[in-house]
Amino acid sequence: MQTRNLIDGQWVDADSGATMPVFDPADDSLIAEVPKCGLEEASRSVAAAARRFDGFQSTTPGERVALLRDISRIMADRRDPLAELLTREQGKPLFESRGEVDYARSYLDGAAHELERRSLETRLDPALTGKSVLVHSAPLGVAAIITPWNFPYAMLTKKLGPAFATGCPVVAKPSEETPLSALALAEICVEAGLPSGCFSVVTGDPVPIGEAFFDSQDVRLLSFTGSTATGRKLVRSSSSRLTRLALELGGHAPFIVLEDADIDSAVEGLMISKFRNSGQTCVSPNRIMGHHSLHDPLVSRLAERMKTLVSGRGLDPATNLGPMINDAGIRKVQSHVEDALSRGARLLMGGELRHVEGLSSRFYAPTILLDATPEMLCFQEETFGPVCPIMSFEDVGEAIQIANELPYGLASYVWSSDADRAMFVASRLHTGIVGINDPSPVTSWTPFGGRKQSGWGIEGGAAALDEYAPPKTYSIVGLQDA
Ligand code: NAD
Repeated sequence: MQTRNLIDGQWVDADSGATMPVFDPADDSLIAEVPKCGLEEASRSVAAAARRFDGFQSTTPGERVALLRDISRIMADRRDPLAELLTREQGKPLFESRGEVDYARSYLDGAAHELERRSLETRLDPALTGKSVLVHSAPLGVAAIITPWNFPYAMLTKKLGPAFATGCPVVAKPSEETPLSALALAEICVEAGLPSGCFSVVTGDPVPIGEAFFDSQDVRLLSFTGSTATGRKLVRSSSSRLTRLALELGGHAPFIVLEDADIDSAVEGLMISKFRNSGQTCVSPNRIMGHHSLHDPLVSRLAERMKTLVSGRGLDPATNLGPMINDAGIRKVQSHVEDALSRGARLLMGGELRHVEGLSSRFYAPTILLDATPEMLCFQEETFGPVCPIMSFEDVGEAIQIANELPYGLASYVWSSDADRAMFVASRLHTGIVGINDPSPVTSWTPFGGRKQSGWGIEGGAAALDEYAPPKTYSIVGLQDA
């Protein structure tokens, strides 16, 4: 297991020698100590990346395609150990971690594919003025990357794929909760032949590392995935140098079940989208709204299915519900449930910690809250836990209005068996992505980005490369054959 940082091509400790612990959230056991770096180490990484930019952007697209494919292939070869490492530091069930390795690889493969597909140079016909115009996708330069703990491989490769494809060197700061996955990925990048210094991983204190990114004129893009609260802080910090930001922030997905929906399909959709990563996903349905005509069977069938969820250590093959990432995570879930109950919600199941023999107290019982209302905390902000607050609606207009009234606009879901009605509702939801009878709408080949306070920018799909290499125009006079 790699525990040191990769800085300018060298595996190193923090300058001070300080370390920070990484715990298994399932049982509190210490997995490893990683360097507790700060401003100095991050600044050195940025400077190294800046020195490598020219060389990296001059590699051929074919070389970068091969590099991305090699990183992806090595990840595939190491699927099981990578998945185990992820489960240990993050807690998710092993089958989900294996799925995340595949999902993370798909962003590298997708970027390679897009780089092969895209014409790097568009020559427009000379305008009447006699000018020639060339438009290139021109890499910005050093990209700083800050990632969360809930999908430590995938949130990183979503950014590494387009960065490496376009020749942008990267300095990454992974979450303090899950630094080991990022270091394992860095090891693979080195093995795949990534030019030295083009990828540094700095673990440690977020604030000074962030400061180093904002202090440097060499950081041409800071791509962040995390909470809206942190995103807001980064926007403020970016103002001194007007650092370009790409922000993938929090969501609060509505899940609307129309009267003509297939109830079993909606229930299965909820089982997948709600309980993936124990509800700790940005696209997790948090506001379940069922038409009153099918509310009762929807609830009873969901409750039946939720009884099959087995909490435990992610490495145990029987487990399909892992722990919350940390104590703050479990406290947030508890406070949302308490708030809902104090405001009149009815508890159908769960609503308490789930004791799992020999493990930590971060497991929460799958919970259904009935009679949820928009004032409740669980309808206002992400719960990030296995809690299903459900409300019944009569008029779809009311459901759409409730869905849209929050400042978040990441993902939403509509269940219906009528294509026109489904599209009518989906087109009125102010989110970047809508799953129509689809519990897994986010893929590497489709663009994804939040509206409102859920983010700025696009990841996935062809547009992802434009974040790192926006168009640059050459307007040319007097050079024949330019
Ligand atoms: P977080 O905002 O607490 O932390 C995210 C990252 O930011 C971590 O690496 C953290 O160390 C770093 N950070 C925190 N404060 C910082 C600062 N002042 N300067 C620089 N870096 C700082 O989020 P989290 O708890 O790790 O992740 C969960 C959140 O991420 C949820 O809100 C979830 O919805 C969101 N998320 C969004 C997407 C998306 O695609 N939109 C995907 C996954 C997660």
